[in-house]
Amino acid sequence: MSKKIVIIGGGIGGLSAGIYALKAGYEAEIYEKNHIAGGECMGWNRKDCHIDNCIHWLTGTDSSTSLWQVWNTLGAIDKNTEYAKTNKFYTSRLDGKEATLWKDLDRTEKELIALSPEDEAEIRKLIQHVRYAESCTIPVDKPMDMMKLGDYIKMGKSMADMPKVMKEYGKIDLNELGARFHSPLLRKLMTDYLPADYTAYSFLVSYATITSGNGEIPLGGSLAMTNRIIERFKKMGGKLFTNTPVKNIIVENGTAKGIELESGEKVTADEVISAVDMSFLYGKLLDSSYTPKDWAAAYNNSKSYPVISGFQVAYVTDDTFSGKDTIFFECAPINIGKRSFERVYVKNYGYDKSFAPEGKTVIQTNIMQTDEDYLYWKSLSGDEYKAKKQELAAEVTARVLKEFPELEGKLTMLDCWTPLTYERYCHAYHGGYMAFTTTPTTKKLKCNGTVKGLKNLYIAGQWIMSPGGLPVAAASGKFAVQRILKKEKRDIYI
Ligand SMILES: Cc1cc2nc3c(=O)[nH]c(=O)nc-3n(C[C@H](O)[C@H](O)[C@H](O)COP(=O)(O)OP(=O)(O)OC[C@H]3O[C@@H](n4cnc5c(N)ncnc54)[C@H](O)[C@@H]3O)c2cc1C
Repeated sequence: MSKKIVIIGGGIGGLSAGIYALKAGYEAEIYEKNHIAGGECMGWNRKDCHIDNCIHWLTGTDSSTSLWQVWNTLGAIDKNTEYAKTNKFYTSRLDGKEATLWKDLDRTEKELIALSPEDEAEIRKLIQHVRYAESCTIPVDKPMDMMKLGDYIKMGKSMADMPKVMKEYGKIDLNELGARFHSPLLRKLMTDYLPADYTAYSFLVSYATITSGNGEIPLGGSLAMTNRIIERFKKMGGKLFTNTPVKNIIVENGTAKGIELESGEKVTADEVISAVDMSFLYGKLLDSSYTPKDWAAAYNNSKSYPVISGFQVAYVTDDTFSGKDTIFFECAPINIGKRSFERVYVKNYGYDKSFAPEGKTVIQTNIMQTDEDYLYWKSLSGDEYKAKKQELAAEVTARVLKEFPELEGKLTMLDCWTPLTYERYCHAYHGGYMAFTTTPTTKKLKCNGTVKGLKNLYIAGQWIMSPGGLPVAAASGKFAVQRILKKEKRDIYI
């Protein structure tokens, strides 16, 4: 009889583990606390509209990459997948001027130089390094700790230009990158999209994913993609238990033997894969004594190990809002706790006609939130929280209408949500929707996908590798199964 693998959490990491486990010939069962699987790769409906809340870009849409193979194995995309026809990354506005990062790098270079001739040298350098960063790939063939010298040489060759990017932009954060430019608008362009303490190279790699055509948005959005993956898992014979929260992992004599559900029911397993947020694994599913020292220290030091989340508002508008994609703009301060925000973005989802009835468009705003904001939200009582959400949403609406007066009388709010929503829905640490932010000064935390002192327990999910995100989650499930195969001395290439 084949081994039974029990997977905790049905996000992309857990679903990937399930599909690869089945592919390797194991039985796979996924236990998910929510009524549907998908975790943070999610979307929901309000007032005949669909709020798509994950994929801004899906790294791995270039079919020549190994990551595409992983997505294809998961049933997420195939050669016939249609992608949104977008031609830019985003636009920043300041003092009546706009700067755009186009998919077409030549166009970006030309326009930015025209906007700020005195920054020409810095702009040319940046664009050149974005071209270099197009070679950056996430290693997905096997976990890094299983790689041999030959694998590293192969990876080094395929990413030959990345060291140049790291040399120039690996040790500075986005604030420092912005400060290299004279133009206040270009400074904003550098710091608008990602948190300002992110390493500058992360921003170049993100933009390069778009310019290289390896970061498209599959039509139908996040939920549709998640559903395709769930369907693949079930078709292969996997069992998915939704509305089934797991209480803890059963450990006997240093070995994971199965799981206990919140209902009290016990499920035995030959191997257990945890695909929930790492803080939930260590704080709740397992005794906290299993937490590695460096991870415990990171959880106590959010200054060095920050996460990002968002205060988000979704609207439907009667206007097509055409020509406007993702636009960051300056506004009168919005206060959340002790912090004040003066830049907001509006993202136009008009690229996907399935998200709104004809003639209407869904737009979303996001004010990026940090650990400090999370703690503020957490300090509120239930009633205060509800009131603050509505109050802030009204403030955001007023700022949007001031910036886009053409939307006056045409904007209906669909929903708004905060870092606490991610905590409630996914048990996400501090409401973060990526792993720890990659800053130039912090030591990267390592995770070799196992828990010290415990046999038969493996870790999947985006937390295994910074900065997380969908590609890491997808690869993590494959890696967890490869670790089991290696233990059994079987071929790990599945
Ligand atoms: C607004 C937003 C935009 C994003 N944009 C992008 C993007 O453009 N590109 C990109 O690559 N990534 C993006 N991401 C990040 C991406 O969504 C995540 O990296 C990814 O979905 C994480 O997958 P995961 O499986 O590791 O974790 P999760 O999705 O958190 O999955 C964990 C699962 O475990 C379940 N669970 C938790 N506790 C239990 C329990 N006790 N019992 C049973 N089940 C449990 C949860 O309900 C959840 O389903 C975005 C995320 C958000 C929110």
